[in-house]
Amino acid sequence: MAPPGTPARLPVAILVCNQAPPVTDPATGAVVTPSLMTFDQCTTLFHETGHGLQHMLTTVDEGAVSGISGVEWDAVEQPSQFMEYWVRAYRDWLPLRAVKCHGVPLMYH
Ligand SMILES: [Zn+2]
Repeated sequence: MAPPGTPARLPVAILVCNQAPPVTDPATGAVVTPSLMTFDQCTTLFHETGHGLQHMLTTVDEGAVSGISGVEWDAVEQPSQFMEYWVRAYRDWLPLRAVKCHGVPLMYH
């Protein structure tokens, strides 16, 4: 909590993730297999981003109850579950790449 008369400090969130590194050709150093996320890793990234957004977008100036602090656990998970939805929705939208509107794939609208 900011002392009276001083501006509130903006929250900061850091996401630290593990991911397999790219595979390179030892002779040339060229990337043979890029570092790609699995679907589960992508889902986890979006989940944790939901926690980060809830933390960073708080408008409460009381640190003990702002962002994800002091929030009931099921409510803490709500933004994260919402963000996970977008990962699953994107997977479900992939077949729409074949659908075109005015010659442009629907995925890019
Ligand atoms: Zn969570």
